[in-house]
Formats: sequence, C-alpha cells, structure tokens
Amino acid sequence: AEPTRTRPSTISVIGTGYLGATHAACMAELGFDVLGLDVDQAKIDALSSGHLPFYEPGLEEVLTRNLANGRLRFTTSYDEVAEVADVHFICVGTPQRGDSNAADLTYVDAAIETLGPRLTRPAVVIGKSTVPVGTAACAAARLQTLAPAGDAVELGWSPEFLREGFGVEDTLRPNRIVIGTDSPRVEAAMREISATQIEQKIPFLVTDLQTAELVKVAANAFLATKISFINAMAEVSEAAGADVMQLATALSYDDRIGGKFLGPGLGFGGGCLPKDIRAFMARADELGVEPALSFLREVDAINQRRRARTIDIARTLIGGGFAGRTVGVLGASFKPNSDDIRDSPALDVASTIASLGATVTVYDPEALENARQAHPELNYAHSMLEAVRDAEVVLLLTDWAEFRDADPDELAKVVAESRIVDGRNALDPTHWRSRGWTYRALGRP
Ligand code: NAD
Repeated sequence: AEPTRTRPSTISVIGTGYLGATHAACMAELGFDVLGLDVDQAKIDALSSGHLPFYEPGLEEVLTRNLANGRLRFTTSYDEVAEVADVHFICVGTPQRGDSNAADLTYVDAAIETLGPRLTRPAVVIGKSTVPVGTAACAAARLQTLAPAGDAVELGWSPEFLREGFGVEDTLRPNRIVIGTDSPRVEAAMREISATQIEQKIPFLVTDLQTAELVKVAANAFLATKISFINAMAEVSEAAGADVMQLATALSYDDRIGGKFLGPGLGFGGGCLPKDIRAFMARADELGVEPALSFLREVDAINQRRRARTIDIARTLIGGGFAGRTVGVLGASFKPNSDDIRDSPALDVASTIASLGATVTVYDPEALENARQAHPELNYAHSMLEAVRDAEVVLLLTDWAEFRDADPDELAKVVAESRIVDGRNALDPTHWRSRGWTYRALGRP
C-alpha cells in the first residue's frame, strides 16, 4: 500500500503578520525549510532583510538565524509557494467586518482562491487563522474544486493559541496542538511537523474540522469571560467599598478558579479577544443557537464599561471637564510586551479624553509608531517623564514593567498635580499615597 506519511520537504506559510511571521520563523527553527508569503511587499522586504515589522521579544533572533542558515525565505509569489511546498499553512487575518460583528473572511477566501488553482500535485493545506465554525469544511471543498490535483489536495485546521509577547515560546512549546481533519495524510503531515512537541509529551489532539475551529473561539470566549467576571466584581466592589484586588487574590487560591486572567483593570483588547467573541456570537446566531452565547454580549459590555469608568475616575480627579486640561498617558499597546494597538483600551481611553478637549500626551515603550499612525490627534513622548510633564492627571493604561517600576518621586517632580489613575492595578497604592499622590484604581477604595 502507498505510505500515507508525507515528509514535508518545504512548508509554506501564507500570511506573515504576527501569527504567520512567528510560525514561519519557528518552523525553520525546528529544522524545516520554510517559505513565507505575504501580499504586502513592504512586509516581505522587511522580513527578508531580517527586520520584524512588529515587536515580538526573541523573534528577531530566530528570524535572522534562520535567514542566515538558508532554511527560511520570503516571497510574494503564489507560483513559487505552490512550486516548492507540499504543506501550506494559512495564517492570513480574519478581522471583524466593518458592517457587523461577524468575521471578515475575505483574506482566507483570497488565499484559497489564489493557492488552489496552482496546486498541481498532492498537497496538504492547514488553516491556522481563527475562523467561524464551518469555514474549514467549505474551504476544503473549494480547494479540491480549484486544484488541478483535485482530491489529492487535502485541508485540515489547526488553530493557533500563541500569545503576543510570548510568540516564540508558545509556538515552540504550546500547551497543546489541535488538528481538525479526517484525512490520514493531513494528520501524518501534522505529526511530522509537530514531532519535537510530541516527543516533549505536549498533548496532540486530532478532532473533526468543526471541533478544531471551535476549540479556539471557545478558549477565547472563556478567557474573555474570566476577565469580565473579575471586572464585574470590580464594579460591585466600587459600589460597595470593597477591594477587588484582595477579592481576586482570595479567589485565586481556589484551584478550581486559579489566578490567571483574574486581574481586574481596564479590560481586554487587541486583535483577537474582542473580535473573536463577537464573531462567535454572530456564528451562533447563524446556527440558530443565539441564546447559547448571549452571555458574551454582557462580557463585551462589561469590558467596554471599564473604559468609560476609567475616564470618569480621571474626570473626578481633575474636578470637572477635560477641556483645556493636560493629561499624561502611560501605555498605548493593548497589553505589555507588544506593539499591537488593535482595539487597544489604552488608546481608546486616550483618544476619548482628547476628544473631550484635553491635551493628551502618550508614552509607550514599543507602540509609539503604530499609535502615532492610528491616532494623530494625540501627542507622543519618548519617555515616561516627558509624557507626564505638566500633567494634571496621569493615567497608567498598559501594564508595562517600566510603569510598574516607576518612581513616584521622579514623576512628582515634573507633573503639575500628583494624581494618578492606575487602570491596570499595577502600582502599590500605599506606597504612592505615602509619596503624596492622589491614587485611584479600578475596583478599589
Ligand atoms: P495580521 O494582520 O498581523 O497578519 C495577517 C497577514 O495576512 C498580513 O500580513 C496580510 O498582509 C496578510 N494577507 C492578507 N491577505 C493575504 C493573502 N490573500 N495572501 C497572503 N497574505 C495575505 O494578523 P495576525 O494577528 O497575524 O492574525 C492572523 C490570524 O491568526 C487571525 O485569524 C487571528 O485571529 C489569528 N491569531 C492571531 C494571534 C495573535 O496573537 N496575533 C493568535 C492566535 C490566532
């Protein structure tokens, strides 16, 4: 009998954004020959010359090392990708649609439509992008229709769980690998590619396509719910005069609950959680099970209310409206160790305050360039001290270590008024108050 194993001579990675660039570099690091493809020429030029178009700790070394040893290359040519690779990973974006909560599948469709007709010999295609359940089955059928090699082209779906800021570690040593497929050839290819992780006893789960797609959105729905749960407790704590930080600590000792993702504050943002829970609700609606996920609407609403609440606290601190006031903002990225500003709570708060008439100056260790492009109405500073100079109130909105370690005395020397809103519960209130600061946080007296 024909062996069902496929030794991937070359892997292609289609779409080299945060996910794809990380995946491509890490697959090369594991010893595979990798060809990354993107439609964005500037991105391909940057990656080819060893420059990451975004910030991700540790990734640039992996990139340059594997460019140098020849295992990693980049191209914009689908012809080249189809020619050299036997396994293709789809890593293109799936943002929220402009006109609804649903996922925009334009880029996934385009990748399938462009790759498909070029597949003239047996190939395995593995989707990694986060997609609504049901997408993969359609894509699999469409690929076989388009491909000259017909049903010798098989598609599986292996959702990606990496966290920005820990992308390399999460790709090389994920918590688990999930592959949705009913094809022995796809499963064999995925086992071959995951051999290092399987050796390390990292769980390797084979499911059907639909379950694999659901694992990803279910995981994100759970994480978003956990964050909004503790933020709902923060709302109650604020009204009742309780301290949500002490509450969270006490809850975290229950190992059925656990302490991760239980940090009260300004809530979640980024290119994944918000759009993923909205797309999940939209799909549930289409599947006729809308009530099953209606709680996610509340999760989203709680999350948005934290932004409004942060602005309210700042307004109270300066005693009135924002018009003509000077505000210093620490943080622009949606979370620390990232320059990603997609749906960033920090920038949402900063730009809302600016729209109310304040002069807002923002500092972020990595995200200033991205922020400047997206929010030209804000001012930007190249250091924490510069950002808070003459500020009547300071807002800490992204939990960077640099802000946690800030010296209240240093900041006090340059601000107009020593008032701070700690939107991430990152600082020690007792210490800051003892240094003369009016300190306010979310969910604490
Ligand atoms: P991104 O926007 O950074 O990257 C997407 C890339 O796809 C861009 O470089 C774009 O130019 C490229 N692209 C678009 N159309 C293309 C086409 N037809 N052919 C080739 N390339 C094309 O997005 P991302 O953050 O990398 O996310 C990609 C997917 O991975 C999304 O579905 C996302 O939900 C999922 N995901 C992301 C993360 C993360 O941390 N960023 C984690 C897990 C899953």
